[in-house]
Amino acid sequence: MKAGASRPDASTGAPQASTYDPDCRRCPRLASFLDRVKLEHPDYFCRPVPPFGDANAKLLIVGLAPGLHGANATGRPFTGDWCGPMLFSALYRAGFASAPESRSATDDLKLINCRISNAVKCLPPANKPELDEIRRCNDYLRAEFEPQGSIRVILALGQIAHRASLTALSLKAAAWPFGHHAVHLLQPGLTLVDSYHVSRYNTQTGRLTVDMFDAVLADIRGRLS
Ligand code: SF4
Repeated sequence: MKAGASRPDASTGAPQASTYDPDCRRCPRLASFLDRVKLEHPDYFCRPVPPFGDANAKLLIVGLAPGLHGANATGRPFTGDWCGPMLFSALYRAGFASAPESRSATDDLKLINCRISNAVKCLPPANKPELDEIRRCNDYLRAEFEPQGSIRVILALGQIAHRASLTALSLKAAAWPFGHHAVHLLQPGLTLVDSYHVSRYNTQTGRLTVDMFDAVLADIRGRLS
């Protein structure tokens, strides 16, 4: 198990299941795609992108997958592409980030009581992971919810993140339908909140506005107070 890939058990200090493996190549299609992208862009990260943020956070944000010129290039979720500015500026306004911008994986941005991961850790062609890839990568997401885990609210950005979060918790998607700003009380002490993804399409078409996203985060802030 890689250093930094596992979260310690809060009571024993023993390592738990891994939330991330920087050398994972369990998805052959994605591994070979990353190899090709690395040849075209030698300066890009081009590996499974690790979760970012507070290891003991109460809020876990789940996105879809790294973007080609965003997280796949920089090595930090939602950093370097269209989606990042809307997400991080909203997190800052809601008190979940120390700054309104994520410039690189090595800047001094800190997430506060917040952690960001993706349903799929590797860049998928055309931003579309296949079902078996989502299933395979779910092991890492599941590890975020180990019994002694700190997560109290999950914010799922989009349908795939919503379904992946439910799968990670062994819950049926049919019982918890996705909807923007839908709030699902999954079990005592654990709530799933949905939002449309902060994608270019959703924000440019007005499907998701800054005010709508701020309202979701304000709701979550209230639930964690
Ligand atoms: S998507 Fe997930 S399971 Fe598949 S190779 Fe990447 S890290 Fe491994």
